[in-house]
Amino acid sequence: MEIGDFRLEQLSEGIFEVSSAGSIRKIRNHQEKESASETVVRVGLDPVLIDTGSTAILLDAGLGMGLDNKEPEPDTSNIVTNLEIFGYRREDIGAVILSHLHYDHAAGLSFSDKAGQVSATLPNARIYVQKSEWEATLHSLHSQPTVQGMGYEPDDLYRLVANGRFVFLEKELQEIIKGITVIRTGGHTPGHQIVRIRKNSQTAYYCGDLIPNEYHLNRLVTTKIDTDFVKARKARMLLMQQAWRDKATLLFYHSVYRKAGMIVRDKNRGFVLKRG
Ligand SMILES: [Zn+2]
Repeated sequence: MEIGDFRLEQLSEGIFEVSSAGSIRKIRNHQEKESASETVVRVGLDPVLIDTGSTAILLDAGLGMGLDNKEPEPDTSNIVTNLEIFGYRREDIGAVILSHLHYDHAAGLSFSDKAGQVSATLPNARIYVQKSEWEATLHSLHSQPTVQGMGYEPDDLYRLVANGRFVFLEKELQEIIKGITVIRTGGHTPGHQIVRIRKNSQTAYYCGDLIPNEYHLNRLVTTKIDTDFVKARKARMLLMQQAWRDKATLLFYHSVYRKAGMIVRDKNRGFVLKRG
C-alpha cells in the first residue's frame, strides 16, 4: 500500500485464539476447532511497517513468539521473520510507535538470549509511547487487574527503559517524523495513542486497539477490556468522522478478515468499511 510516497506493509503474526481467561494461543490452521469448554475470540496480530524512503518505522511490535532462545516453537512468525519477508533487517528499524503497552503490542520489543539476558529485538529503534501509558503500566504492578485479557507484562520493558530506548510523549498531538503524527486517545488504556500517516494529501490512520477490527466500527459495540469505555467510544466516533472526512484508509491490528479499508456512511448502520 502507498500513502503519498510512503510505503506501508501490514505484517502478520497469524491468527490467535484469546480465551475468556486471557490466555492466547496460535491457531495452526483455519479449520482448527475452537475448544468446546470456553468462549474464545479470534484475533489477528498485524503490526505496520512504514518506509518513508529515509527511515523504516514500525507501528506496534507484536507478541514476538519464537524470538526467545528457549522458545518451544522457534519457527513461528514474529516481527523479525516478518521484516525479512519484506527485505528488512531488524537493524533497519529506526523507530517504533506503540499504541499502548499491552503485551500483544509490546512483547516483541525484547527477547531473552542464550544466557537469559534480555535484549532489544530492534537494536537501533527509539520507542515512542505516551508517558501516561508507562505510568499506568507501573501502577498496574501494584493493583489487581479489574478485567482479564491481554494485560501489561512490564518486566522485559524495564531494561529497554533503563537503556534509554524509550521516548515518553506528553503532548496530545505530536509529529514524530514529517507526516507521521501520534494522537493520544486514552480509552482503551490511559495512554492509548493512534497514528496518522499523511503524505501528498493522502491519509491513513493506524487505529491500535481503539478500533481493533472492522466489527468495532459499529457504534454500539463496546469492549470489556477498555479501561474507560465512555472515553473510548467518544474517541472512536471522532476518529471515524475524521477518517471519513479525510477519505483516509484505516489500518487494523486485530483483524481476522479485512485488515484495512476506507469507511463510508451507511443510512442504517453508521460507518462501515467500503466494499471492494
Ligand atoms: Zn491488542
